[in-house]
Amino acid sequence: MKVAIAGETRPDERRVALVPDLVPRLAEAGLEVVVEPGAGEAAGFTDDDYRHTGAAVDSGALDGAGVVLSVQPIAAHRFDLLAPNAITVSFLPVAQELDLVRALRDAGHTAFAMELVPRIARAQAMDALSSQAFVAGYRAALVAAERLPKFLPLAMTASGTIPPARVLVLGAGVAGLQAIATSRRLGAVVHAYDVRAAAADEVRSLGAEFVELELPTLEGTGGYARQMGEERARLQRELLAPHVAAADVLITTAAVPGRPAPLLVTTDMVALMRPGSVVVDLAAESGGNVEGVKPGEELTVDDVLLWGGRNVPSQLPAQASRLYSTNVVNLLLLMRSGETLAPDFDDEIISACCVTHRGEVRHAPTRDLLG
Ligand code: NAD
Repeated sequence: MKVAIAGETRPDERRVALVPDLVPRLAEAGLEVVVEPGAGEAAGFTDDDYRHTGAAVDSGALDGAGVVLSVQPIAAHRFDLLAPNAITVSFLPVAQELDLVRALRDAGHTAFAMELVPRIARAQAMDALSSQAFVAGYRAALVAAERLPKFLPLAMTASGTIPPARVLVLGAGVAGLQAIATSRRLGAVVHAYDVRAAAADEVRSLGAEFVELELPTLEGTGGYARQMGEERARLQRELLAPHVAAADVLITTAAVPGRPAPLLVTTDMVALMRPGSVVVDLAAESGGNVEGVKPGEELTVDDVLLWGGRNVPSQLPAQASRLYSTNVVNLLLLMRSGETLAPDFDDEIISACCVTHRGEVRHAPTRDLLG
């Protein structure tokens, strides 16, 4: 069975769905890997790197492929190139890509969305949301450290003592915890807050202080947060304001699945920060946690630098690709049946992340959206 690795065509996407080192894992399973020329280039992998690990490189990689792997979904006009009933594996934000979902359904392909892999222990090695959030959290801390016109660590020198910078992280999920760990390694004093009470122990285990607010917790199912009412959100902002004002760096990562990001910090709160402070908002693409932030832009408001994240994992493309590739390969090999792939819909992982199959939309919330 031919597995095609598509070259990414969307702007700013530097990752690739399969790194050369993982080609042998698919070959051992009897799968033939064919890569589009230049597919790994932006992530630092040459066509020769792929050839050395046993893949073919061919501009007709998608022609007759039984499987196509990509980071962003491939364009609809390419669906006809694939074999009938082909498997596509990529990120596929269904609510924003309804036309593409319709086209996948009508083409009869079996499409898997990596963001729909369930957050259960057995699926951890396939959890691309977590692996990419991990990369984004690390990058957020480095962006902030680089832009802050101050030291992060405490420094005691013969010429005097430099106090450590204060970093505040809002949202202590996968990205937030990595931002905390990285800021701590750089020597900052870190405070963090999350609506999930369970996050407090994780924050403390990284050497940061958990900010306690007098608010009821908002735990949802599957380890995710629930959306909060506007009155409670307003109270949260009021209670967070002094913590924001005291921070040199604010990193925000708060998200509620399927909803716009909660607004945690208003421009009035940003105005309370000292001149030269830095705000890094990883939720910028889904509406932003900080008012005024724009995805992919760096703005200065009231002498505070606002950095809006856009496809942040792609800014560290080699390692983000490596982690994503592992997630994708593990998902694909779960469908292994002899020398071929056959999705077993009795498996809860396969069933949860399959969007379309043989002319039908299997994912119920997407079916509802399509009406
Ligand atoms: P996410 O990206 O959906 O959200 C990031 C964080 O923002 C979460 O911790 C959330 O609680 C927080 N948040 C939401 N609204 C907020 C608000 N108003 N104020 C402050 N914080 C707010 O989350 P994520 O990083 O993908 O994962 C969240 C949790 O899911 C993890 O910490 C973990 O407990 C669980 N998880 C489980 C698995 C697994 O079992 N396989 C994998 C990954 C994550």
